[in-house]
Amino acid sequence: MRSPITKIYEMYKDRALRKKAHADTVGHTGIRFTFGKAKATAEEADNQKNKDKKSEAADVYPEEVKDKNGLRIPAVMIPSSFITCRSCGRRALRRKWEDNYYVCPECGKYAPIGAYYRLSLILDKGSFTEIDTDIKAEDPLGFPGYKEKIERQEEKTGLNESVISAVGSIQGIRLVTVVLDSRFFMGSMSRAVGEKVTRAVEYAMEEKLPLLIFSASGGARMQEGIYSLMQMAKTTSAIEQFSEKGGLFISFLTNPTTGGVTASFATLGDITLAEPGALIGFAGPRVIEQTISRKLPKGFQRSEYLENHGFVDRIVERSEMRDVLTDILKLHADTRKFSTVRKSAALENKG
Ligand SMILES: [Zn+2]
Repeated sequence: MRSPITKIYEMYKDRALRKKAHADTVGHTGIRFTFGKAKATAEEADNQKNKDKKSEAADVYPEEVKDKNGLRIPAVMIPSSFITCRSCGRRALRRKWEDNYYVCPECGKYAPIGAYYRLSLILDKGSFTEIDTDIKAEDPLGFPGYKEKIERQEEKTGLNESVISAVGSIQGIRLVTVVLDSRFFMGSMSRAVGEKVTRAVEYAMEEKLPLLIFSASGGARMQEGIYSLMQMAKTTSAIEQFSEKGGLFISFLTNPTTGGVTASFATLGDITLAEPGALIGFAGPRVIEQTISRKLPKGFQRSEYLENHGFVDRIVERSEMRDVLTDILKLHADTRKFSTVRKSAALENKG
């Protein structure tokens, strides 16, 4: 039986995760507010408009505001009662979005969610323990402006890298979970991300635990050049070792999974799951079209297309995420038990 102290500790851990998960969702859906007036010229405003059109990321990371001395005014995100869908533009109550796990109640489009929020959806209450919290983004090449960008991202998201690794349990089955967060540098793979992923794999290997990685990444982190690219080999060989020892690796692809992450650990899963409508690929569709000078088929690089072509095993909706993961984990936990039973039976027969 669990002692009252354990119970209190679990309650404390659960509250800490829920607090972070709430901050995550506000960070994605809240209203940006700055204490001060933005002094944007007509030209700057125009540039910002074009940027917004170009990428969704521009909405997530709005342009900063500077005071008249050129000093940056930090922005805060305030939770609003209504959330506007970036896809269909319709507004719905935050309550409705929450009940729907941040899938648009009107059009069904999946909104991006933060790492802590995702963990709070799948892990058992009080089981969450974060690991490798001391590894953070660094600037190995002295890339111009990179350090300042890291600082800004840290301030905006409350994260120190675009990945969270944790140990927890789903329906009582312990596992190691790694979640990439698209708010921090579009979840791109830096040296620190590669290190954290590798350590999580090694931890799972040592403790003989299943491994679950949620990918959401724009690819390699340009500012870290070759250091970033080297992480592909590092994570791949770690997964390979894990696999050789018989570890179970579930790879969960979310929107977007591209570049170096797709080309390394994200596509090495024993079981590959994906969120509906997620963009999954290496290079973007426009680059491919220009290279092969042909039109791409409809729905190319979306999870549904990849499922039809055998690249993804199953598309899992956010609402059924925990149930599906439970089934897979239980199935494999049982097989493991089964195989040990069979082995011991075989040994007895021999004797
Ligand atoms: Zn919508």
